[in-house]
Amino acid sequence: MNIVLLGPPGIGKGTAAGKLSKKLGIPHIATGDMLRENVAQKTELGVKAKSLMDRGLLVPDDVVIEMIKEKLQNDDCKNGFILDGFPRTINQAEEIKDIKIDKVVNIQASDEVIVERISRRRVCSKCGFIYHLDFIKPNREGFCDKCSGILNQREDDKPEAIKERLKVYREKTEPLINYYKEKDLIVDVDGSGTPEEEFELVLKAVS
Ligand SMILES: [Zn+2]
Repeated sequence: MNIVLLGPPGIGKGTAAGKLSKKLGIPHIATGDMLRENVAQKTELGVKAKSLMDRGLLVPDDVVIEMIKEKLQNDDCKNGFILDGFPRTINQAEEIKDIKIDKVVNIQASDEVIVERISRRRVCSKCGFIYHLDFIKPNREGFCDKCSGILNQREDDKPEAIKERLKVYREKTEPLINYYKEKDLIVDVDGSGTPEEEFELVLKAVS
């Protein structure tokens, strides 16, 4: 089954995609990871992407699209895949329109729920491990279980920053959701519960 996962930042899309990948035995393709992989392996596209990122530039659409297309042609994708973080725009969706998509799972929650949830994230200042004060609690408040580093809140995870990211997401993704709605592929899933509840609903949506 070929699946696209959509959802705002902080909805737990990556976590749900990872679990779904294990459950269904198909790869989880996250654009960010793929980019890092290509850079690490110094592929032609990776080298191109790195030179742009080193100059503080965004990796342009056509490079990302090229990477995705290459990836989707791999043998491990022939029984299906889960796309996470791609497509983000109608243009990107059009670029992969020759690849059959079976379901587009749209995970949703209100801004209030997401702001509340992300603002409870803490990051270890030493090892970078990400905690969550409700779901992945450190044993000792304020300190990392793995390395005893001090836990901080990222600037990006503060309410004002989250609200801005959500605004950008909604503006950019709304047209994409309508695009897939017209193709009758969208299944809405409630992402306001715990990660376990969310995963059950995602699983139901693709079953
Ligand atoms: Zn740590």
